Amino acid sequence: MLRPRIAVIGGGTLGLFTAARLAAHADVEVFEADYERTVGREGLVGASPQVAGHRGALEGWASTLGGTSTIWGGQLLPWEPWEFAGGSGRPAWPVPYEEIEAGYRAVAADLGLDATHARVHEHGIAGPYKVPSSGEVTSRYSTWMPRAVRDMSRNRAVARRLKGVTIHRDRAVARVERDGAGFALETVGPDGGRGRSAADAVVVAAGTLGTSRLLTDGLDTPARPRVGQGFMDHLSMRVAEYTVTDWHRFRRYASHAYEGRVRATSKLVTTPALLERTGALPGYAHWEFDISGLDRRRDAPAVAAAVADGLRSHRRPLPQGTRIYLRVDVEQPPDSCRSLHWRTGGKAPRLDLEWSASSRERASAVVIGEAAARHLEDVGIGADLARWIRDDPGTDTFHMMGGATMATDPDQGVVDPWGGVHGVDRAWVVGAAVFPSGGVANPTFTAMALATRTAARIEEALA
Ligand SMILES: Cc1cc2nc3c(=O)[nH]c(=O)nc-3n(C[C@H](O)[C@H](O)[C@H](O)COP(=O)(O)OP(=O)(O)OC[C@H]3O[C@@H](n4cnc5c(N)ncnc54)[C@H](O)[C@@H]3O)c2cc1C
Repeated sequence: MLRPRIAVIGGGTLGLFTAARLAAHADVEVFEADYERTVGREGLVGASPQVAGHRGALEGWASTLGGTSTIWGGQLLPWEPWEFAGGSGRPAWPVPYEEIEAGYRAVAADLGLDATHARVHEHGIAGPYKVPSSGEVTSRYSTWMPRAVRDMSRNRAVARRLKGVTIHRDRAVARVERDGAGFALETVGPDGGRGRSAADAVVVAAGTLGTSRLLTDGLDTPARPRVGQGFMDHLSMRVAEYTVTDWHRFRRYASHAYEGRVRATSKLVTTPALLERTGALPGYAHWEFDISGLDRRRDAPAVAAAVADGLRSHRRPLPQGTRIYLRVDVEQPPDSCRSLHWRTGGKAPRLDLEWSASSRERASAVVIGEAAARHLEDVGIGADLARWIRDDPGTDTFHMMGGATMATDPDQGVVDPWGGVHGVDRAWVVGAAVFPSGGVANPTFTAMALATRTAARIEEALA
């Protein structure tokens, strides 16, 4: 095959990123449904999706060129080796950590990331107000990409690599069928007009919801009975409120810090020792700042003082009067209390999704909050614990993962360890849908790192 033709289904975060990777070796076409601009969101989720408990399935995605990267925070935190190792009801990943680690470096290069990101991920922030670690919690800092970098439809480094790639801006893929050694794609335009395209290979990059829909009714795979299983997110719960006793000190420890122009946010991540001692699930504690109670007039001097202090200390302004909460995000192992199904009987498919948090996940949030609070007291961050919050119902975090789970055994998952759909030669999936477990940290950096591996595999398979 001279230059294989690859169809990438979904022009979102992972779709554009992966297409850019593949473009050097293949003729790549990207099909983006762009439901927001055409038929509206129900084009993806059906006219009356049954979504119980999960905010993300209703609000936490965008269907347009750039996908959800047009609205996300672009917060990066590479996972640590133990996050892939499984245990305690969390399946292990069938992927060597070194390959993911190499993927993180490749993603940073592809996105044109400042080297500060990697430095902060490895060493934290510089200076005396870096939160230390303890035996129970590890101090880590996530970094945030600026808008022009995090929005995949605007990222210049990605755009350079996408030269030569054909992008169909408003064509949804409805079906993918075998056609000889390759595939025939049935596409739908904004006016409902049908079209057909051919490809030697397909990459499904339709987001966690869109991917499970395509695997349910658009691509004939023997793995279909397992599609939607293992759907998960992170549970996020407010666990405590703090009163600031020393704003100067608290701002320096807790407010987002700037290393050069890179914003960094402090997290206290569980150590394996804490998990072993308590039986808790992994997670991290972080600050939540609520400025909704500030009054524009009354608090104007406090805001001005916070801005001045923020400029001096390279911190994000945190005005006196802000309410301060400790929040904990917990990993959710695959659990029968969560399910993702597509009903395909009617005219249009309809999403049927249930999400909730198990009592073990809630109890873990409390354990992690208590460990973090003990440590913060020892550090002396300029704030005192005011009250524990035991009745927060918790929420998801817009981190939809699973549903097209990766497993070596074709009877256990939907894709193989390289993202190849079990039983369908030359069809691959990229995105957090393939995660067997959800780790602690934000998923997309890891999904991209994994996609670099899938792209290499595709090139090899089509060479
Ligand atoms: C408010 C918010 C903040 C977030 N912040 C972070 C963060 O800081 N860090 C982090 O790691 N993650 C974050 N996330 C999650 C992150 O945005 C997602 O994990 C990521 O964008 C998913 O990428 P994706 O390519 O898999 O899906 P998407 O970016 O959603 O792209 C999927 C694309 O596929 C298209 N599509 C679907 N079906 C079809 C079809 N049949 N044919 C053609 N096209 C189709 C859709 O239109 C869409 O454009 C956040 C999410 C939200 C909502």
